[in-house]
Amino acid sequence: MQESSHYARIREIVSRIPRGKVATYGQIAVLAGMPGHARQVGYALHGLPDGSAVPWQRVINRNGRISLRAYPSAEYLQRALLEEEGVLFDDAGKVDLAKYRWQPDDRSALETGGDSSAGLPGVVRVRFLGSGDNFASGGRFQACIHVEAGATRFLVDCGASSLIPMKQTRLGTAAIDLIVISHLHGDHFGGIPFFILDAQLISRRDTPLLIAGPPGVERRVREAMEVLYPGSAGVERKFVVEYAELNEGEAISRAGITILPVRVVHGSGAPAYAYRIGCAGKVLAYSGDTEWTDALRTVADGADLFICECYFFEKQMKNHVSYRTLMAHRAELACKRLILTHPGQDLLNRIAEVEPEVARDGLEIIL
Ligand SMILES: [Zn+2]
Ligand SMILES: [Zn+2]
Repeated sequence: MQESSHYARIREIVSRIPRGKVATYGQIAVLAGMPGHARQVGYALHGLPDGSAVPWQRVINRNGRISLRAYPSAEYLQRALLEEEGVLFDDAGKVDLAKYRWQPDDRSALETGGDSSAGLPGVVRVRFLGSGDNFASGGRFQACIHVEAGATRFLVDCGASSLIPMKQTRLGTAAIDLIVISHLHGDHFGGIPFFILDAQLISRRDTPLLIAGPPGVERRVREAMEVLYPGSAGVERKFVVEYAELNEGEAISRAGITILPVRVVHGSGAPAYAYRIGCAGKVLAYSGDTEWTDALRTVADGADLFICECYFFEKQMKNHVSYRTLMAHRAELACKRLILTHPGQDLLNRIAEVEPEVARDGLEIIL
């Protein structure tokens, strides 16, 4: 990303600070997806052209003071502009941040934290919140992969346990733009009822949530909500839950990402999909759950990262792929990087013999 687009983003956020409120340089940096780069915020504001409408005066330092400038007159001007807006300074020249600090409605960027590359176009950050199987083998959380690509944040699968690692990493349910579901098994979509209820009652989300998945995903999510919390499916919320029921081979584009579902072999009462997800110029491929199928060659082809399920070490079973089978086909997977996920206990018992990387909860990868 060019410096000028950093600055444009910073100025856009500063423009949202309402009259009579202040924000700190560090706060703006976090909101701009550049935590730890408070100094850049200063540069972006100092370089404003004359007559700019950006309310630069509303950004002060973390102690509630006006930052020193090369020209003292700029400090006086900033204080005068703020006082004119009703912001009061104490005798020590400090603003009471507890009283005047801007609290944006959308706290998503504040909740995600992360490193300085998060949220920038061209960078895709993949974080395994859950890398386990349906039986919590190895004490792992069920399938849930968090992806940040540019300004878009999404989950790939949302197993029943997903809210736990989300809370552990301070990732709020208001911060997720969409959820992509591979297939309708509880360890892949069972976290959605808890996600929706948290978004409604705890994070107080007010932006639409898109859930994309196989045909039948809307009905199954609604049924799951009714079974777990009767009356919860039809309740009125401050946000709309939109569903996109995907047809195999038909890509959709939403929130700056493209999602191509590819049919795989895994019985779950509805078609099971692998995905190729294009985001920020990268291709993320994910097998979902499946036994070996040649479709995985298509899914993995040229992908920057292919996340592939691998359940058993050598036992051949329907619905899942074993390590031995996957390795027999390894040369056919033309991906730049392969990471295995969803290991069962059998595979975990022999993990020292496994050649490719195996995901673990908390693993982060920058593409
Ligand atoms: Zn499954
Ligand atoms: Zn599974």
